[in-house]
Amino acid sequence: MADLEKDIAKILITRDQLRARIAELGNALSRDYAGQDLLLVCILKGGVLFLSDLIRAIHIPHAIEFMAISSYGGTRIESSGVVRIMMDLNSNIAGRNVLIVEDIVDTGRTLAYIIENLRTRNPASLKICALLDKPSRREVKVNLDYIGFAVPNEFVVGYGLDYNEIYRNLDFIGVLKPEMYAKPAEDSESAT
Ligand code: 5GP
Repeated sequence: MADLEKDIAKILITRDQLRARIAELGNALSRDYAGQDLLLVCILKGGVLFLSDLIRAIHIPHAIEFMAISSYGGTRIESSGVVRIMMDLNSNIAGRNVLIVEDIVDTGRTLAYIIENLRTRNPASLKICALLDKPSRREVKVNLDYIGFAVPNEFVVGYGLDYNEIYRNLDFIGVLKPEMYAKPAEDSESAT
């Protein structure tokens, strides 16, 4: 971990802050969905650490599913919004209360695509729970029902979020030193 930490310019959200906020989100979800069906759909890979802590903070019965999306043609630090489903859900969501669990909403394009796609499958309800929100970068309006933290317009890593597949295991959210991604990125297809 120490090796990776040297690439971090500053810590934005500590492990304790993450833990406290996720406990609050778990309580809010447990209250809002009490007595109802609940299916959490985690967007891989970035949302996986958030999901694993969030479900332990939810005290009502619920199910989980995973979906993997890749973003094509952007840079390594910016999504293009041209997205593709790499791995789809295993179950039918028609008539279910679906909660999308996402790591970060930046321009909103990725989430807008996922919402549009899942809506066609006729869930009873479709809500969004995003750990991080970068509102200053929004290009497409998306309604976030549950938000962990708002973050400034900086590229963040840790707690599931990567740069070039690295740094997901950091137990805090930090800003990557700009020199770590200063090298011009090639066009690539990358998992979110
Ligand atoms: P959007 O389509 O909203 O512009 O981008 C959403 C996706 O881009 C996120 O799911 C995430 O994979 C990636 N992303 C956006 N901002 C950041 C960031 O600051 N750090 C990291 N690691 N990924 C980001």
